[in-house]
Amino acid sequence: MMELRKSFQFEAAHRLPHVPAGHKCARLHGHSFVAEIVVRGPLDPQLGWVMDYADIKAAFRPIYERLDHHYLNELPGLENPTSENLAVWIWRELKPVLPQLSEVVVAETCTARCVYRGD
Ligand SMILES: [Zn+2]
Repeated sequence: MMELRKSFQFEAAHRLPHVPAGHKCARLHGHSFVAEIVVRGPLDPQLGWVMDYADIKAAFRPIYERLDHHYLNELPGLENPTSENLAVWIWRELKPVLPQLSEVVVAETCTARCVYRGD
């Protein structure tokens, strides 16, 4: 088995409605998010790859369109758009069209990231 990782950057605004009073994340702000999409599978002996990176990009495209330059709190299921909830949300949207999906990583800064590997 091998693993492919492909990253997508998108800009989005959010606020976290359930943090303690006075927490900075309660205020409207934005991030340059990075979503890393990971697939696992056997190496195709003829093609020499697990799958085409372009197929990962195509599968993620509709999700990217819903996230990029949007206010995440307005998306159904993302009313509390923490990185953790966003990773789960991306997993649920992507898994049906990308069954080889094995991990979703969401980074909201260069130094903070969240990893989700399914239920
Ligand atoms: Zn934030």
